[in-house]
Amino acid sequence: MNKNYIVPNEWSIIEEVFDTENVKASESLFSIGNGAMGQRANFEEDYSGETLQGSYIGGVYYPDKTRVGWWKNGYPEYFAKVLNAPNWIGIRIQINETNLDLNLCEVSNFRRELNMKEGWLSRSFNAILQTGEEIRVETKRLISIELNEVGAIEYSIKAINFSGEIIVEPYLDAGIVNEDSNYDEYFWETLNIVEGENKGTIYTKTLKTEFHVATAMQIALKLNNEKVSVLHETNIEEKSLTYTYKLNVSEGDIATIYKYGSYVSSLNYKNSELIEASLSNVQKANELGFEDLLKLQKQSWSEIWQTSDIIIEGDVKAQQGIRFNIFQLNQTYLGTDARLNIGPKGFTGEKYGGSTYWDTEAYCIPFYMGTKNSGVAKNLLLYRYNQLDKAIENATKLGFKNGAALYPMVTMNGEECHNEWEITFEEIHRNGAMLYGIYSYVNYTQDFEYVPKYGLEVMIAVARFWHQRANFSANKNKYVILGVTGPNEYENNVNNNFYTNYLAKWCIEYTMECLNKVKHDFPKDFKRVIEKTNLKGEETFEWLKVSNNMYFPFSEKHNVYLQQDGFLDKELIPVSELPKSERPINQKWSWDRILRSCYIKQADVLQGMYLFENKFSKEELARHFDFYEPLTVHESSLSPCVHSILAASIDRMPKAYEQYVRTSRLDLDDYNHEVDEGCHITSMAGTWMSIVQGFGGMRVCEKGNLSFNPQIPEQWKSYSFTINFRNQTLKVNVNQSETTFELDGTTDLQIQVNNKIITIVPNEFVTV
Ligand code: BGC
Repeated sequence: MNKNYIVPNEWSIIEEVFDTENVKASESLFSIGNGAMGQRANFEEDYSGETLQGSYIGGVYYPDKTRVGWWKNGYPEYFAKVLNAPNWIGIRIQINETNLDLNLCEVSNFRRELNMKEGWLSRSFNAILQTGEEIRVETKRLISIELNEVGAIEYSIKAINFSGEIIVEPYLDAGIVNEDSNYDEYFWETLNIVEGENKGTIYTKTLKTEFHVATAMQIALKLNNEKVSVLHETNIEEKSLTYTYKLNVSEGDIATIYKYGSYVSSLNYKNSELIEASLSNVQKANELGFEDLLKLQKQSWSEIWQTSDIIIEGDVKAQQGIRFNIFQLNQTYLGTDARLNIGPKGFTGEKYGGSTYWDTEAYCIPFYMGTKNSGVAKNLLLYRYNQLDKAIENATKLGFKNGAALYPMVTMNGEECHNEWEITFEEIHRNGAMLYGIYSYVNYTQDFEYVPKYGLEVMIAVARFWHQRANFSANKNKYVILGVTGPNEYENNVNNNFYTNYLAKWCIEYTMECLNKVKHDFPKDFKRVIEKTNLKGEETFEWLKVSNNMYFPFSEKHNVYLQQDGFLDKELIPVSELPKSERPINQKWSWDRILRSCYIKQADVLQGMYLFENKFSKEELARHFDFYEPLTVHESSLSPCVHSILAASIDRMPKAYEQYVRTSRLDLDDYNHEVDEGCHITSMAGTWMSIVQGFGGMRVCEKGNLSFNPQIPEQWKSYSFTINFRNQTLKVNVNQSETTFELDGTTDLQIQVNNKIITIVPNEFVTV
């Protein structure tokens, strides 16, 4: 059963009942971040129930030693993990010496809100402690976008039925572990703890990677809304710093604590500057005060929403879903730091190591390209360009030669971090996404110069890989690619996965096309790249043999490309016939049973058709959709968005809508029963695509112009989205009878709508 406790609301994620069963899920859903750091929505006060504590700093990782059952040559030695960082949010609360712990007291009037419009998280509740005292707590927390090393908490406690002592103990704790640590090790070493009046910092470093981090706090107190100064006791332990403030209250009094926190790291400072920088950050935050920080936060989010909001009228749940997806993507990555990337769980959990997957190129680039200036997508491409040497090293380890590159399945710094043979060695389709990312960037921005400057080197290395990875089958008289895992990870070690073969062929063709264009238009760069890569004409002839003669499994009977050789040997029983109690199959079935079954974890053949839709006729798409959709369990978050887009392309709006709801509310309603581990951040970009590319039908056409083919689900009155295109903003508004376009820019734009060319003049409405 999906979860159903999030209150529908257009701008907020709201929870109105306290249920210990939902605490971990809500910690994920209500996560906050600013692209540079982020955290799960853990309670500030102690909580003895089930919880996953998590605070993360972008780019600060730990190489956890790999744990494998059976070592295989080519496995990485370690798995880079985004690190659970020192805790700065903690505030222990005691009421007349009883510790506040929502797991142990009676909770009522509970409400939690993640306000996406303004970028803050709040929580309020009444609690009757074990000793009978009743308090009303109201908290608000933010991680500042503007001051991106700073976070702030306002925490107030009202004494409802007692007079006595409230003790508040804000603390910093560096004794933090990762739940997914392979050997239960500490990843942090505490180097110094600095105390001061109402402020302090803990200076730490990560073991092995030696990232140095200072985590600071500064405290201010109010009683009944008046500032009070209370002397604190200080308790310094090996890894923590705690201040104890004792407040005497009378019945009805409200005590408020402000806690300002900051992370600074050696990514941005010299080690010797960190302690000072962290303290100066919290001091600045304290001087500004909570209200001003909140104002800045509203301003920052209003700017983000201006270029990225999607408005849906007539369907609150769909509206909440898309805003949640856009909000979380922006909390994870803002594109301001080229060293960072988008982990599948962002700052909402530990799973996936917080590292970079093919998700970035296949899913996230279109979102960031469409909602921010093109420099952001370029940064994402440069991230891979900067890791090319490591990708070549990785391929060399596996036995490839001559500068062939295999980009890692999972990475933090370019090195492969994944160690399940069927994925590390076999899920090689990821290499295709690297080129697809470049292709979609160039198409969309028309910045072809990226290719001669950077992209071509990546392309050559990847084309070399595919040439070497394919082999000629005398039996088939074609080139084949054996022993792979396609995007559908419920099949391993298969031969001729359609998606993989298709991408391999396309990569070589696209590389050849770019080589020719660069030779002609950028001769100097051509010479430089050819010398650097030592590429000879004869070598490219060999590549072409592979791309021109690639094998694709096809069924004459069904008139469809097959997912892989032998797919039809499986018993084809549609997912609709699986009992609900057996879903998701990855939690209910043995791996053996999954592998033998016909069930497809995520879009695979259809993923290829989605990426290269213009190469297939509508009939072909519909045929493949009808064949594969009934067999797809969508147990990867990356799946429903692709099916939604394709369904819209073939005019199956009810299906497109159903899959849209699934992708946009995947986490909110917990379709895959795992949201407690964190949210599915990268697929959220797919949700955005299902509106813009799916319902809006936006495509980049031949000359780099945009085309639209707008449709609207019958459940909606209207929807509108904004596209950043060549540094101008195009607003598209679709309702049941017409579509309007409005351009905020300086030059006219030609677009194609339902196959008609239309000129859009800046600041004038065009109605279609
Ligand atoms: C999917 C992969 C994806 C990864 C991270 C897996 O479940 O099968 O395609 O890259 O999650 O999102």
